[in-house]
Amino acid sequence: PKIIIAIDGYSSCGKSSTAKSLAAQLGYGYIDTGAMYRAVSLYFHQHYVSRTNPHEVEKALADIHISFQFNPEKRLNETYLNGLCVEEEIRKMYISQMVSEVSAVVEVRRAMVALQQRMGKHKGIVMDGRDIGTVVFPQAELKVFMTADPLIRAQRRQAELLEKGDLVDLNEVLENLTKRDHIDMNRSEGPLRQAEDARVLDNSYLTFDEQVALIKGWADE
Ligand code: C5P
Repeated sequence: PKIIIAIDGYSSCGKSSTAKSLAAQLGYGYIDTGAMYRAVSLYFHQHYVSRTNPHEVEKALADIHISFQFNPEKRLNETYLNGLCVEEEIRKMYISQMVSEVSAVVEVRRAMVALQQRMGKHKGIVMDGRDIGTVVFPQAELKVFMTADPLIRAQRRQAELLEKGDLVDLNEVLENLTKRDHIDMNRSEGPLRQAEDARVLDNSYLTFDEQVALIKGWADE
């Protein structure tokens, strides 16, 4: 029977690439919830929305429509904000620098959690984020909490950014990860936390294929 797989963990642990590959192997859908918070952040940036003004936030949320569309050429899902593909833009450093503050806003979280629950209601889904196993799908059959050494995470993220032509200093990347984790762990609503029944996966010294195989084994149990 098809199940829900929740993958949570710190920033840049390789959650999304792992989740993506796992979903492909299982024939499941994949939902990147970080992309949704990034899209909201992009909208706030483009429309000068003040995240501390509840009225502005509510108005913005009513106007924000997020979806994922499969790109057959690239053979992957891309994030759309109000009908426009924002996949590339939302990965940029300036979005990473504002996304944790935006995603700490209670109204933003409530709207995204509701959307995620609708998107994942048909089982056979891998969803990655920070609060999937604790808030979005506490009933998920398999919960994985991913961690990795911060320096290793920063090195991986820096290489990823460089691949896209975004040259960022390693210390700046490390600082961004640490800061995001700190904000994510300390917010009032849906903080980054390991679910009690989650299996912990430290991938500092695992190859990509090893970690995907490990989770697939858990899913098959
Ligand atoms: O997964 P990714 O690093 O793209 O997520 C970007 C940010 O979105 C995280 O740093 C976190 O602040 C926020 N986020 C969240 N809850 C989720 C997924 C992401 O608060 N479920």
